[in-house]
Amino acid sequence: MVIITLQRNKCIGCNYCVELAPSQFQMSKKDGKSVLLHSEEKKGFFTLKSRDDTIFDSCDEAKKACPVKIIEVKQR
Ligand code: SF4
Repeated sequence: MVIITLQRNKCIGCNYCVELAPSQFQMSKKDGKSVLLHSEEKKGFFTLKSRDDTIFDSCDEAKKACPVKIIEVKQR
């Protein structure tokens, strides 16, 4: 299982995560911040739990590229 977390309110809209992991991240046309697709929100943190382990590498690249370090990716 791959667990991805996004602290969305701190997103600066640089688009790196969308370029690196387009199946999980999309830019919002409303506020210009990244959206973690199919995630659940709790106190400003958006979390996606996926059984698809193949998404780990691209999401980890997005985590490393994020300039404000608001993406967390864990594998269990
Ligand atoms: S890489 Fe980080 S700052 Fe850039 S759009 Fe994605 S979440 Fe936002």
